[in-house]
Amino acid sequence: MATPDTFVELRRKFHRIPEPGFKEFKTQAMILEYLATLPEDRVQIRTWQTGILALVPGTAPRRRIAWRTDMDGLPIPEETALPFRSEHEGFMHACGHDLHMAIALGILTHFVHHPIQDDLLFIFQPAEEGPGGAEPMMQSEEFKAWKPDLIFALHIAPEYPVGTIATRPGILFANTSELFIELEGTAGHAARPHLANDMVVAASQLVLQLQTIVSRNIDPLDAAVITIGELHAGTRQNIIAEHAKLDGTIRTLSMESMDKIKKRILQLVQGIEAGFDCKASVDWGCMYCEVYNHPEITRRFMDWAADVPGISLVECREAMTGEDFGYFLKDIPGFMFWLGVATPYGLHHPKINPDERAIGIAIDLMIRWFSRLADQPAEA
Ligand SMILES: [Zn+2]
Ligand SMILES: [Zn+2]
Repeated sequence: MATPDTFVELRRKFHRIPEPGFKEFKTQAMILEYLATLPEDRVQIRTWQTGILALVPGTAPRRRIAWRTDMDGLPIPEETALPFRSEHEGFMHACGHDLHMAIALGILTHFVHHPIQDDLLFIFQPAEEGPGGAEPMMQSEEFKAWKPDLIFALHIAPEYPVGTIATRPGILFANTSELFIELEGTAGHAARPHLANDMVVAASQLVLQLQTIVSRNIDPLDAAVITIGELHAGTRQNIIAEHAKLDGTIRTLSMESMDKIKKRILQLVQGIEAGFDCKASVDWGCMYCEVYNHPEITRRFMDWAADVPGISLVECREAMTGEDFGYFLKDIPGFMFWLGVATPYGLHHPKINPDERAIGIAIDLMIRWFSRLADQPAEA
């Protein structure tokens, strides 16, 4: 029989085997192996790529309510001394998706043994960290066959204490886009700049110009971020650089600002091309839409959760982080919330060590929430 420890143990098993997006083979096998221990007639399973859809049938279903977890790890070498640390060199569950999966299985297990009126769909979604599994999963026949009417999810939050959950009606996470710029000039001897075309100088100008977009082109009340996180140019100290590569990310709270920023980036890059007589290319890479919490459903959840014993509810601000759960919420009403895991290290940090007591708290909270939804009229 499953106990809260079962799901802490499962979390540790997932933690040992972080895998990149769409390569969550061992993770998928581990989840399927666990699901196989449950009564066969109480859970129906479909797989899609490395993802899984697990349906727990209701007693007299009027609708299908979904809970989504992501599955992938990150290319980060783990720096914790945990006995269950990553066994996959160079990879780590540094974004809590191991906890997310354990929590999903904990909620699922409860309802396998204690069904409610409505169907419950558990979505194990690959590739949240990129290239993005939510959008293609939603377009799959497997998903369409079991498309839910409501959908919910959580994400661990290092900055909040255990027992705290935080969310807000409306936008929770930003629109995001990657940004890859390449500049190509002419190499030459460092001492003969007039015979070359230096892409270190061009790239330096461009980085500074890009920083004027948010400050000069975007409404200050509509938050936006442009970060160039990587800048590579040149091969040696006495050779003029032929190539420069600038990689970054764009985050906005509105699609309007995202479109405007992209337009301005193209204009500035064209200006660099003309001004430095070089060739340039821009690629937007992977894009995620905002996470938009259904205002009424979220407000109702927050009012309810504030009275759940042991839960401290915070109405938080928007975050400029991205989450491909936004694609589900674009089409299906629901919400996402932060789950406090009290660790001094942030998401994606090689030393992050979430407090595992949050697993049981989240399972218990969502059992209560789904049970409550089952008592409500279907419009609720
Ligand atoms: Zn992440
Ligand atoms: Zn994450």
